[in-house]
Amino acid sequence: MQRVLFHSTIFGPIHSRRLGSSLGINLMPSDGKVCSFDCLYCEAGFNAQGPGKAGMPPRAEVARLLEEKLADLKAKGEPLDVITFSGNGEPTLHPDFEGIIDDTIALRDRWFPDVKISVLSNATMIHKESVCLALERVDNNILKLDSAIDSTVRLLDRPTSPAYTVADTVTRLKRFGGNAIIQTMLTSGTHLGKTVDNTTDAEITALIDAYKAIKPREVMLYTIDRPTPETTLRHTAPEVLRHAAARIEAEAGVPVQLTL
Ligand code: SF4
Repeated sequence: MQRVLFHSTIFGPIHSRRLGSSLGINLMPSDGKVCSFDCLYCEAGFNAQGPGKAGMPPRAEVARLLEEKLADLKAKGEPLDVITFSGNGEPTLHPDFEGIIDDTIALRDRWFPDVKISVLSNATMIHKESVCLALERVDNNILKLDSAIDSTVRLLDRPTSPAYTVADTVTRLKRFGGNAIIQTMLTSGTHLGKTVDNTTDAEITALIDAYKAIKPREVMLYTIDRPTPETTLRHTAPEVLRHAAARIEAEAGVPVQLTL
């Protein structure tokens, strides 16, 4: 079974296709995965691997490790574009997420004032006020919406809560408006004998309605780039991605950042 990618709290800098030179912060355990989704394409593997034994790193430890790394990068003169919260699961599940964001902003201002702070989140915790307040403070609040059709989200992203609905998520996402970037992964394949495909015209039409309601700053459209736990998933063809991007820009009036 494919397992966690990140064995530390601070990792990189790595080159990100979408974000540039990115220093990663993993708020989830270094030896297991914790997420409120269980996406078929998750680079950290399936949730079935378990949460491990290390636990989530405490707030003070995250700040200490981050400052150590930023000081080291500064001393070496290494370039940095962005500090990115991602890793072995959903960062907003950390109980001190808001405080950690405040610490990160303060450290960024001290060491690399021009560097952006990005959070990659699946948007399942935005019913919590503290999570929303934290997300409103970062430069790039990047929230996942892979499909606007519940049955597709259940197949592809597999929310762990039976209460998850697209309608609730879209209603909550509207709060961020122009402060949100929506990330949508387009792929197709099969899982346990069922077809999974969020690239169809019907899927894109439903997404366009959701983007129109949310009015985000931008949509990031991308596809599979690395091995996925569900091995049948395919890299979506560039012409399909370009067609979807053109429709979204024309019909929802939202700029699309396309990663082929
Ligand atoms: S939301 Fe992100 S971390 Fe969670 S399962 Fe999906 S891809 Fe993995």
